[in-house]
Amino acid sequence: MAWFRKHGRALPWRDTSDPYAIWVSEIMLQQTQVATVIPYYERFLLRFPTVAALAAADEHDVLRLWEGLGYYRRARQLHAAAKRIVSDHGGRFPHDVEAARHLPGIGRYTAGAVLSFAFDAREPILEANTLRLFARLLAFRGDPLAAAGQKLLWSAAEAILPRRSSGVLNQALIELGSQVCTPREPHCSRCPVASLCPTNRDGLQDVVPTRMPKPKIEHVREASVVVRNRGKVLLVQRASGERWAGLWDFPRFPLAADGESAVHQELIDSVNRLCKLRIEPRRLLTTLRHGVTRFRITLECHEADLAAAATNGRSQESIALSQADIAIHEQTNPFADQRWVPPAKLADYALSVTGRKIARLLSASGRRRAQAI
Ligand code: SF4
Repeated sequence: MAWFRKHGRALPWRDTSDPYAIWVSEIMLQQTQVATVIPYYERFLLRFPTVAALAAADEHDVLRLWEGLGYYRRARQLHAAAKRIVSDHGGRFPHDVEAARHLPGIGRYTAGAVLSFAFDAREPILEANTLRLFARLLAFRGDPLAAAGQKLLWSAAEAILPRRSSGVLNQALIELGSQVCTPREPHCSRCPVASLCPTNRDGLQDVVPTRMPKPKIEHVREASVVVRNRGKVLLVQRASGERWAGLWDFPRFPLAADGESAVHQELIDSVNRLCKLRIEPRRLLTTLRHGVTRFRITLECHEADLAAAATNGRSQESIALSQADIAIHEQTNPFADQRWVPPAKLADYALSVTGRKIARLLSASGRRRAQAI
């Protein structure tokens, strides 16, 4: 703890004992680096300063603020848990660890972190940094993620807690794990617990903790289509149960065909199948490359017009379908909603990361066109 007081980084969520702010930071920090989280955390608390404000928010606004942070399930669960805190706990984050763990998105680590940091509750924590630190301090050679390893490491996390200041100790342990006891080439020469560490004594830093083989990378090819109709573009909303549930995007699907005409035919067929619209592909706008978990995705972004015959005489502004169409649509449409949106209004929608890149491309080309005129 003395080391932490001297060397711990000043982070915005370390300045507060507000359980709501600490909880928001902990959810954002899952799978995401500190430097990325800081501006999101500050914007989020400015917009939703209390659990009541978050509970009253529209999910769309929560997702819009989360846009770019990824793992959107976290945002939906945070929002759902805020509602539950207001309805079941009088708007206060529960002090009881079991009650906290019943909230959506809050597991053993998050409950322990919020309760110990905010209320100095004597609750243990174990996450990636402390898992590595404890494994090395115990010279544990088994699988730290298997049941036996988890049991041992959680027991160590519990046994080490002092009677008071558990919150400070827990934060110190995370800091030590992330800043000193790093996965590769830990800084043992400046570690405050080096004299207690068998891994350091025996030079086993490279083999403790046991590293599990990384999942195999898979390469995937997809297409995204900007369908234009009378100055508007088509957006679709991802359905619930999906990784990107609630977010908006341009119609997107796997792409198998090669060669321009085969690709165009696949775009026509896929948009017809997914959105019940007929399109005329125009051109390839750009190709984006990005990664999601073990997938490396090459995304071909195409531009297309709504085909003149697509509406069968109905208003081109509307994508209203006949009753027969709706019956088919409900069975097969994977999207929760679809809308025609003026490009200038895309900023109001929570888009996927690639959706936002395409939207920026559209507004840049729109500006260039306006300047040329
Ligand atoms: Fe980690 Fe080295 Fe400290 Fe041991 S001495 S806890 S391996 S940084």
